[in-house]
Amino acid sequence: MDSQNKRNRQVQRAPCFSNVGRRNAASPSVIVIGGGFAGLAAARTLYDASFQVVVLESRDRIGGRVHTDYSFGFPVDLGASWLHGVGNENPLAPLIGKLGLPLYRTSGDNSVLYDHDLESYGLFDMEGNQVPQDLVSKTDLIRKENSEDMSIGRAISMVFERRPDLRLNGLGHKVLQWYLCRMEGWFAADADTISLKCWDQEELLPGGHGLMVRGYKPVINTLAKGLDIRLGHRVIEIVRRYNGVKVTVEDGSTFVADAAIIAVPLGVLKSNCIKFEPRLPEWKEAAIKELGVGIENKIILHFQDVFWPNVEFLGVVAESSYECSYFLNLHKATGHPVLVYMPAGQLARDIGELSDEAAANFAFTQLKRILPNATAPYHPANKLFVMRVDCFFFKILVADSLFSIQYLVSHWGSDINSLGSYSYDTVGMPHDLYEKLRIPVDNLFFAGEATSADYPGSVHGAYSTGLLAAEDCRMRVLERHGELDIFQPAMDEETLIPILISRM
Ligand SMILES: Cc1cc2nc3c(=O)[nH]c(=O)nc-3n(C[C@H](O)[C@H](O)[C@H](O)COP(=O)(O)OP(=O)(O)OC[C@H]3O[C@@H](n4cnc5c(N)ncnc54)[C@H](O)[C@@H]3O)c2cc1C
Repeated sequence: MDSQNKRNRQVQRAPCFSNVGRRNAASPSVIVIGGGFAGLAAARTLYDASFQVVVLESRDRIGGRVHTDYSFGFPVDLGASWLHGVGNENPLAPLIGKLGLPLYRTSGDNSVLYDHDLESYGLFDMEGNQVPQDLVSKTDLIRKENSEDMSIGRAISMVFERRPDLRLNGLGHKVLQWYLCRMEGWFAADADTISLKCWDQEELLPGGHGLMVRGYKPVINTLAKGLDIRLGHRVIEIVRRYNGVKVTVEDGSTFVADAAIIAVPLGVLKSNCIKFEPRLPEWKEAAIKELGVGIENKIILHFQDVFWPNVEFLGVVAESSYECSYFLNLHKATGHPVLVYMPAGQLARDIGELSDEAAANFAFTQLKRILPNATAPYHPANKLFVMRVDCFFFKILVADSLFSIQYLVSHWGSDINSLGSYSYDTVGMPHDLYEKLRIPVDNLFFAGEATSADYPGSVHGAYSTGLLAAEDCRMRVLERHGELDIFQPAMDEETLIPILISRM
């Protein structure tokens, strides 16, 4: 413990009181690393259970891969924007319900294309011709073929080898490629890297998929209320000993506590920019290495007027999934003239190499292909006002006489605070890697979307893992203190905690 550092005293085992009023008990302490949904859920839970909690967050904002931006004058989400499973079974439902936040449902339970129904798409080829709706429905049958583990891309080729009659030509082929493109967006990875065996292992909660019309920020702010959160604290080392943990941040200051909850993204763990002393066990290091993390980004275009059809999604079909793309029409859900271009996998990596201006131009070019009359977003001669919004997002306002477009570009793959968008199953790797990532190591507990076997890559998955890590941590720390009986359960009685069975 660095006694010079005043703020570090916060995590000394200062006297604190249990929920049941035993005033002489020293309160156990926990350091939560990462202020995204998982970290904040864990911190909130332990704080409410009278633990001393400090959250160390590397960015200058909370929320992580949930990031609502207000620079257009209304909220838009650069990270997560859907609640997957709009119903009471969603662990976030009580909180979202209590806040009275509206959702716009983009699909019901039986959606074919993840978070959208086929009826809500408008598909176009590169010449701007609209694809007939019945063709879109027929090509879905091909997804139902199955085989031993291989990539989804390979599996589809095999289906065509075995059943040449299913092979599609012309527009049908392009629509199939577009299906793959949508799948690549869901997994944030290319079809030739997604595991056929595992791709549908994740559990979908009932209730369909709903867009958070006012953005996710109010939920994050509610979770964070009253917590001791240290922004700009990038953790670089975690030392664990039998009686506690010591965490060092970039500027050299240290924090000690009984335990730590590690809720940083999988991409950050993969990069080894956090040193563990002693090293994590081999099985944990292997899980970190083997689980995939993909890239999906958003290029958000704000127009002055709506000139596109009144569908939820505009799709561009093409010869290969790489050339296909789609725009989410936020106008449907929010009333604002905004289209969100969402490249994933290799396309997202390639666009990530471009300047933000070039990326926005690229997205607009795709739009222009399918809607030749699309209003020009800006003229190259126009003045540019460049403003740094936060470390990794740039807002560029492009002006002529009036502002005609604004755009925001996310960089989840290259941002050192995320190094990827979300986890996915790679070919040949077992699905239990998520569970291996979650299992605690002594007094280190792990949370985050990539530790959720059932709901990886989602906000509610991240949130649930935060609750679980908090409960594991609470039990372990209180057992060590011999005080398990004096604290109330960390979660309120309505929260359902599954029984944990592991064989590590
Ligand atoms: C483009 C995109 C779209 C998405 N769409 C959806 C959607 O519609 N619906 C949905 O449910 N999910 C969606 N997701 C996934 C969802 O956003 C994530 O699963 C979820 O937000 C992850 O939460 P987390 O707490 O696990 O991680 P994060 O939110 O990434 O939190 C981790 C935190 O750790 C911090 N950190 C990193 N390194 C350090 C360090 N060394 N020291 C201290 N702190 C550190 C980070 O800054 C971050 O705040 C989307 C994700 C992306 C990128």
